[in-house]
Amino acid sequence: VTGPGAIVVVGAGVAGVIACDQLRVLGYQGRLTLLGAEDALPYERPPLSKDFLQGRVGTPGIALRAAGWYAEQRVELRLGTVAERVVPNEGRVLVSAGPAEPADAVLLATGGRPRRLGVPGGDHPAVTVLRTVADAEALRARLLPGVRVGVVGGGLIGAEVAATAVGLGCAVTLVETSGRPLERVLGRWLADHMHRAHGRHGVRVVRAAVSEVGPDGEGVRLHLTNGQAVACDVVVVGVGIEPSLELATGAGLAVDGGVLVDAGHRSSHPRLFAAGDVARRQGPDGPLPRVEHWDGAVAGGRAAAAGMLGLAPPPPRAPWFWSDRYGVRLEVVGELTGPGRTVLRGDPGSGSFLLLAVRDGRCVGAAAVDRPGEMTAVRRLVDAGVQVGANTLADEAVDLRALARAARRPA
Ligand SMILES: Cc1cc2nc3c(=O)[nH]c(=O)nc-3n(C[C@H](O)[C@H](O)[C@H](O)COP(=O)(O)OP(=O)(O)OC[C@H]3O[C@@H](n4cnc5c(N)ncnc54)[C@H](O)[C@@H]3O)c2cc1C
Repeated sequence: VTGPGAIVVVGAGVAGVIACDQLRVLGYQGRLTLLGAEDALPYERPPLSKDFLQGRVGTPGIALRAAGWYAEQRVELRLGTVAERVVPNEGRVLVSAGPAEPADAVLLATGGRPRRLGVPGGDHPAVTVLRTVADAEALRARLLPGVRVGVVGGGLIGAEVAATAVGLGCAVTLVETSGRPLERVLGRWLADHMHRAHGRHGVRVVRAAVSEVGPDGEGVRLHLTNGQAVACDVVVVGVGIEPSLELATGAGLAVDGGVLVDAGHRSSHPRLFAAGDVARRQGPDGPLPRVEHWDGAVAGGRAAAAGMLGLAPPPPRAPWFWSDRYGVRLEVVGELTGPGRTVLRGDPGSGSFLLLAVRDGRCVGAAAVDRPGEMTAVRRLVDAGVQVGANTLADEAVDLRALARAARRPA
């Protein structure tokens, strides 16, 4: 494989690192530079709200690749370096310090940054977010027993932080506007099921929005739209991310809530590609929803590597993510809501079950709650669009793994 003479990957998160790895796997021999704004050796983010925040794993345990890997793979890793402008027609990436990087192709893997609390007082230093290892280290040092923690937002990150903090002995209040966060993804019943776990584990859940943040000693007081006020030593805001689009817009790329890319992750400029949380793939009927999950970033990094070398990308798979809280793993694949019906496999009362969405005789999505053994098979059924009835899926005597294996055999 020849490919471009020099490739610059901007953003040393999982999408960027996987893309570098895959470029070498595919035989790319040219110059490869990975620019990362953060100082830390590239690392996995999912543990930041789980094992890392609990203190069970340290920075070496979350590294994406060992320190020596970059040199072995001839990846020029420039940490603490911000790409400030991409000039594709001149084949250059301008950086915050040091010489511009020559680039025949550029991958934008710039991820996203957390939304802030846009209310008066929301910039108080006790009001924090969780995206980087530096955020997680600072938060971990504050999560001591008895500390009053306010979590704003009960989505994936907010729920995990609440679970971790209460597990560390903190007094946690979760402030959330919806009675069922994640309802659009999980559907009404499962969203409710997951949200109710907070109360059972001793988290105080308040249904309201934050209207103002006032100082309160070293901490803050969250003033809520329901008239209540919550005194907190530290607040973690988990209200979603904004994709980091500045480089893309600066380079004049087509952007619509994400950098628009094709199946090979090529943007509207032939030399610029995008992958991970910042990218939004085109579907047959227009742009697909932007995916903000680890697996999408891995798949995007791989597809972009192929795309940059002019090779066919691997076939796309249905979005999949996991989330851990209170010792329970939630995994979701495909689309759970929408037309069709859902069936249960297993007893929710036991705490371990699958919820499967069936549309036109095919399984189009599923959620597994504390049920690790079957998700690989379900993902295969969803990706292959296998014809399967709702009753078959619900029947625990039917082995889903066998169904998935059969789906792989040519008819
Ligand atoms: C606390 C937490 C827990 C999570 N848990 C889960 C989970 O359980 N399951 C799941 O599926 N997903 C989870 N996710 C989401 C998952 O981690 C992300 O989808 C994934 O990290 C996206 O990878 P990325 O490479 O696209 O972007 P990022 O990880 O955001 O990396 C982008 C990198 O680019 C750098 N950058 C940006 N602009 C520039 C620039 N101009 N120059 C140089 N560098 C730049 C940034 O500093 C950053 O390091 C979690 C995320 C967080 C924050």
